[in-house]
Amino acid sequence: MNVHDSDRMRRMILDAGYAEVPRYEDADIVILNTCYVRENAVDRVRGHLGELTRLKRSGRLKKVALTGCIGAAEESETLRRQFGIDLVLGTHNTYELAEFVGLPTMEETYTPELPGTEGGHSAFVTIMTGCNYRCSYCIVPTVRGRMVCRSKESILSEVDRLVEGGTGYVTLLGQTVDAWRQDGERFCDLLEAVSERAPRVWFTTSHPSNMEDRTLRAIGERETIVKRLHLPVQSGSDRMLKIMHRGYKAERYRRKIEVFREAAPGGTLSTDIIVGHPGETEEDHEATLKLVEDCQFDSAYVFKFSPRDGTEAANIGGVVSQEVAQKRFVEVLRAVEGNAFRRNRAKIGAVEDVYVRHGANEEGRAIGETWSGHAVHLKTGAVPGSYVRARVGSAGPHVLYAEPIR
Ligand code: SF4
Repeated sequence: MNVHDSDRMRRMILDAGYAEVPRYEDADIVILNTCYVRENAVDRVRGHLGELTRLKRSGRLKKVALTGCIGAAEESETLRRQFGIDLVLGTHNTYELAEFVGLPTMEETYTPELPGTEGGHSAFVTIMTGCNYRCSYCIVPTVRGRMVCRSKESILSEVDRLVEGGTGYVTLLGQTVDAWRQDGERFCDLLEAVSERAPRVWFTTSHPSNMEDRTLRAIGERETIVKRLHLPVQSGSDRMLKIMHRGYKAERYRRKIEVFREAAPGGTLSTDIIVGHPGETEEDHEATLKLVEDCQFDSAYVFKFSPRDGTEAANIGGVVSQEVAQKRFVEVLRAVEGNAFRRNRAKIGAVEDVYVRHGANEEGRAIGETWSGHAVHLKTGAVPGSYVRARVGSAGPHVLYAEPIR
């Protein structure tokens, strides 16, 4: 979401006649677009602001803006005063940046109506912002507000414009994309409509309580949808899921995965898992390991719990010690990677049409993605956005290594 927001801001700034420069020293204006998910985010922003203040005092830098989730949080007022920031914006009023950089005032009332990337081979399209859940550990509902769904007409017209401009890969974006709805239509209806217009489609992030079986089946059935599901589970223990206010039980999650595996047998599945949330016992941790084993994830983002001010979990008892959290973190990671490695090795010898996401680096190695959602490293000079037919030669726990077939 932040990458997408940064991209919009970049376009606004370019429209205003500015050029992008790689170093603070060369800039007239600096816009810090921030994330607030991890505790040390504010410390890092302070570090940047300190450096920018020095440049401003020396007269080299004219203006500094702070945007994104930290801009929407309470700390932003302290930061504004301490560092003399010229403009502080949250996540809902980025359009105000236009005036700051000398463009006519924009009328948009909320972020989703702002246009996304145009003409790139791959683009994000925001379909909703905010979140109606209240997960114990998460700051998102506080800084991004309640869910606002963008209209289907607006989404589809953006997709059409992108595809006409040469975009070959559209990713539908939102905190809980599968919660999208409008006038009786649900996310699956939108996904199907987009999959008829764009040559390649994916979406993230989903919530298990909103995920409908028909969406999972559509992933398998629709040719243009990448067969990759990211469905955060967070814990395998019902007790922890309740403490976290996730709104589902592990069994429901398992059932969803069964439907997905049946609908898209070769597809990939990833998740988010938090270890060491306050109150987590050894038994809860075992339940998570069991779920990891049962679901056979292809990858997972495993996080050690870190308390965020302004969230419920920052103030509840049952704190798990760092040592225990670290041990659990390693155990979950090992379990995920063991499964992933096994599944990836089973792909050796397969011939795949690989979508090139990033062109070759200095060593000539490009990064791509199969239709099943596997990340692939391959030696090719093909440009981003093109497809290369390749045979998988070897595999690691995180990526496949493939050779183009001539
Ligand atoms: S559903 Fe996701 S974004 Fe919403 S509160 Fe929970 S973790 Fe945060």
